[in-house]
Amino acid sequence: MIDHHSHLWPHGTRASGPTMADLERFCAAAASRGISRVVLTEHLFRFSEAQSALGAFWEDSTPLPRELYSGDAGLDKALADDMASYWLSHQGASLDRYVEVGLQAKAAGLPLLLGLEVDHYSGLVDKVAALVSSYPIDLVVASVHWLGLWRFDDLDSELSMSVWDRVDVEGVWEAYTNAFCEMARSGIADVAAHPDLVKVTGRVPPDPSPYWERMVAAAAEGGLALEASSAGWRKPIGEQYPALGMIRLGLQSGLCFATASDGHGDAAVGEGMGRLKRFLQAAGVERSALFAIDAGDKDGK
Ligand SMILES: [Zn+2]
Ligand SMILES: [Zn+2]
Repeated sequence: MIDHHSHLWPHGTRASGPTMADLERFCAAAASRGISRVVLTEHLFRFSEAQSALGAFWEDSTPLPRELYSGDAGLDKALADDMASYWLSHQGASLDRYVEVGLQAKAAGLPLLLGLEVDHYSGLVDKVAALVSSYPIDLVVASVHWLGLWRFDDLDSELSMSVWDRVDVEGVWEAYTNAFCEMARSGIADVAAHPDLVKVTGRVPPDPSPYWERMVAAAAEGGLALEASSAGWRKPIGEQYPALGMIRLGLQSGLCFATASDGHGDAAVGEGMGRLKRFLQAAGVERSALFAIDAGDKDGK
């Protein structure tokens, strides 16, 4: 089984390296959980090159989509400060080095592919695309982890979680879907990561199907695979990403699925993948529909 979405560095730790020894250890940990090939998809914001390309993007961003709330100078500033500190604290690695060591590892026969997880930067998609396309990356997974500057899925942030009490759930799903569709149609990515991440805290509209339909349509238009991830089982929602209803819509639209753990670090890579496999098989995702990518073969989906 292939893990299409994994991270070397746990959140809350500064990125460093990586070294060949780091990658060997990581692949061995994945293999011990039955993973035949792992795609490293570090967040782009881990790298100083992202800082150079995007700068202090939080200074020019709308802190929270205005359709979600009427504005509050105190909260706006708090969100901007929080994003700055989150973003800067995750920095520390060099994308040049990540790619160089990743290529060496591939050449040495380690069962890994070189990927990136790219977040949504409203209005900066072109800059992000230019940076990413300048590297020999095998797989790009696109994510929406924040709306404006609000990190709606950061369960460890008291500020982020408090915002949920001030916004309308349907409005949040609408804003998330808009950001998702922009990413999907941008041509920047191969896979839509954790497609219904917006449900992470357990807040789901009575009928999420109109949002699923728009996201699946955008993924089809952008030629993206939908990630199927075990990570949701480890979150308050307690459900895989995406929901079964969205998986069925993806199947009807002929989308491919990219199996993923989104595990962070040696202790978590590949976690829950056996359960995910059983779940997908029961859901009617045929083995042949699983994202079948091999080293250097980006068109294998
Ligand atoms: Zn993510
Ligand atoms: Zn991730």
